[in-house]
Amino acid sequence: MIKYLLLDPHEILLPEPDWERRFLLCPIQTTLADCIQQTAGFSSDAAVLITRDPALAEQAEDLDILVLTEVSSLEQQLADLEAEHMESWPLTLVQWYLKEHRDLPWRRTQDPYAVWISETMLQQTRVEAVISYYNRFMERFPTVQALAAAEIDEVLKYWEGLGYYSRARNLHKAAIQVTEEYGGRFPETVAELRALPGIGPYTAGAIASIAFGAAEPAADGNVLRVLARLYAIGDDILTDHTRKAITRLTGAHIPPQAASAFTQGLMELGALVCIPGHPRCDACPLQAECKSHMLGIEEQLPVRINKTKVRKEERTVYLIFHDHKVLLHRRPEGSLLGGLYEFPGVPAEDGQTFFETFGIRIGDERFLATAQHRFTHILWDMRIYEARLEQEDAPSGADWILADRAQIGQIMLPSAFKKPLELAMQRLT
Ligand code: SF4
Repeated sequence: MIKYLLLDPHEILLPEPDWERRFLLCPIQTTLADCIQQTAGFSSDAAVLITRDPALAEQAEDLDILVLTEVSSLEQQLADLEAEHMESWPLTLVQWYLKEHRDLPWRRTQDPYAVWISETMLQQTRVEAVISYYNRFMERFPTVQALAAAEIDEVLKYWEGLGYYSRARNLHKAAIQVTEEYGGRFPETVAELRALPGIGPYTAGAIASIAFGAAEPAADGNVLRVLARLYAIGDDILTDHTRKAITRLTGAHIPPQAASAFTQGLMELGALVCIPGHPRCDACPLQAECKSHMLGIEEQLPVRINKTKVRKEERTVYLIFHDHKVLLHRRPEGSLLGGLYEFPGVPAEDGQTFFETFGIRIGDERFLATAQHRFTHILWDMRIYEARLEQEDAPSGADWILADRAQIGQIMLPSAFKKPLELAMQRLT
């Protein structure tokens, strides 16, 4: 809705009941400057002056203010003005989405639980890869109650391969909270959703708009890119300030009657048409309103100034065999991949031996291979060795397991250990 600053120095008009929402009436003043001063701070999209005073009208025209002399023509003139200001892209986008969207499993429902699971999975993995994980997960945990009732180890097992295991842990914690605090009914407001573990502004906006049809913005990377191009925004989208500004801009354009299709439409357009690098502008329904396309700068946007430095960490990883089994270690809670099993390793730069680190005696080490794994901020540069356990008893305690070939398939090992796992499986008979 466009908001008008309605300057009516001579009180020609009396306010209609709904005018408070659309207009700010200027109190009686004698000059236009006084009137504008009185209403400073009111944020409007357009100003309209009602006057029959030619001198005042002249001043107003110089200030680019619409002048009306005939009160009877107000509605028509405002309608024309509104049409001039109205951006049609949100409804164009909704129509495009309703016709063109891909048939994805999570789009066949408006169940907030399903929206939450899919959105959480999609934050880290491409749509094509998520489909099978999503179907498997939903088959095993079809409701928030089913997820809350499961053991965390089983949830992690179903998450295996998606990475970022803290998200799976948060899903589990949030499911318990929804079950205990809300009786299994998903909260609807952004504030309530954000109070759940692991739900940030994006996911809360996505659930509120997609599942509940609320006019709440959800700006992920795709949406930021589309909006930055649509409005030719040259600010760095990696800064908090720009992200918030674009999120507000998105929120201001949500058609109240079609919030769900609008949010999904922006995501879909970003995934299929307004793609990174070379957007497919010829196939874009928003081309006629896209400022960056008009300026020919769409490929230069969005601007991202990446300040994230990746820290390289050299690790020595051990495959320790004993009696046709290999030794696995549970990583400490709160650390990277906390609580998950690993092939035990030590940071190479510490210079500590395996025995000094873990107090476990092993025989001569034999170098097998190198491997790398990149997390968001850390790159593991691994040198993989094999050795035999050189003590009678296997290490005891919940943090150690000697696993045979069959058991190892049951344990969830992070994808960082893909190479060590391959090497271990080749050696286990
Ligand atoms: S016209 Fe091109 S740059 Fe603009 S929104 Fe469409 S695909 Fe993106």
